[in-house]
Amino acid sequence: MNEHDSEIIRGVLEQRGFQATDSPDNADIIIFNTCCVRENPERKVYGRVAELKRLKMENPDLIIGIAGCMVQQPGEVERIAKRLPHVDLIFGTMNIHELPELLDQVEAGYKAYRIWEGDVERDGSIIEGLPIRRAPGVSAWVSIIYGCNNFCSYCIVPYVRGRERSREFQDIIDEVKRLGQEGFHEVVLLGQNVNAYGRDLRDGRDFADLLRALDKTPGISRIRYMTSHPRDFTDKLIYEIASSETVCEHFHLPLQAGSDRVLAGMNRGYTLERYMDLVSRIRKAVPGCSITTDLIVGFPGEDDDDFAETLRAVEEIRFDSAFTFVYSPRRGTVAASMPDQVPGEVKTERIQQLISVQNEITEQINRTLKESVREVLVEGESKTNPSMLSGRTRTNKLVIFPLHPDVSQGGLVKVKITETRAWTQIGEVVSV
Ligand code: SF4
Repeated sequence: MNEHDSEIIRGVLEQRGFQATDSPDNADIIIFNTCCVRENPERKVYGRVAELKRLKMENPDLIIGIAGCMVQQPGEVERIAKRLPHVDLIFGTMNIHELPELLDQVEAGYKAYRIWEGDVERDGSIIEGLPIRRAPGVSAWVSIIYGCNNFCSYCIVPYVRGRERSREFQDIIDEVKRLGQEGFHEVVLLGQNVNAYGRDLRDGRDFADLLRALDKTPGISRIRYMTSHPRDFTDKLIYEIASSETVCEHFHLPLQAGSDRVLAGMNRGYTLERYMDLVSRIRKAVPGCSITTDLIVGFPGEDDDDFAETLRAVEEIRFDSAFTFVYSPRRGTVAASMPDQVPGEVKTERIQQLISVQNEITEQINRTLKESVREVLVEGESKTNPSMLSGRTRTNKLVIFPLHPDVSQGGLVKVKITETRAWTQIGEVVSV
């Protein structure tokens, strides 16, 4: 979501005549687009912006800005103004459309600070038609819903990005059609909780209807989405994905913890039993799909038994892979002031154990791919080996394979997997 916001900021800047440069020394404007989901990157922003003071002294016309959800936290603008007085421009995620006006202000010699101060229950309209400078490639991000109503107790997102607001159905369809015409092959539909899409539109259409309408968009061979809240994953949605041609058979379903006590403390709205029931319904309807997850260790009050339940859940469900996180308290959230914060060394021990269990499962699952032939969407040259191409299977496994005269970026090819690993599979092209 944050990277896609950067594409919009870049589009707005290009429309104003700016061009990208690789070096801060050559820049006329430098904007840090921040994310405040975790506290550590936030600290880094302060350090990085402080370092730019030297450039600002050498070139007083240089415009330095901070954008993104970090600045929407209570008191943050004042903190930045006090600690980083060389910052000229501050704007939030819901003020990107005001950037040209803010730049006029800065160029006239004033500071320009603009953050969204509306009522999180009602405000936050969606501005359509902003220029987007997408990174070149085969895949394009498309926002479908902004904000979140869930208030998971560890998460800052609902406080800084406001309540759920869905884009109009037709605006999304039109954007995806344009992307197909522009040569993109895959779209990734974005939202903090894509499954909530349409609830606020009140026209009866939901995320499953959107996927059905987008299926078979000319030029778009694959549709992905993130992120799905397991509580809101309906049978109708499973059915749509199972019967769609282009929606990929990859389900990213953040479990977060295997203990019902911890899940309740997190305010996730499901039990392990309900989550496992969802997984089995998905596996039944979409055989051969991949299921990945997010897991947090060391949530306040998590004891050895709770953690053992997470390990048991991981072993039983057998995720294709997992993003694992150590819980860190986020200022302004309910969990940050919960008693029984777990000591750092316990969290470290638990995350190491969890990663080792999950890695073993990932490798076992990937081994079953050996000798199978998979459809791969070619993304381009491998980042680590220029004599190889890389792409992804429909189940989101990264595959690299030798260059082939008939294969180019954006093509769908059949690749036989010859060697399997935890993160990257090796293969060879069998048909184009
Ligand atoms: S669903 Fe929970 S974790 Fe995800 S953005 Fe909303 S509050 Fe945060």
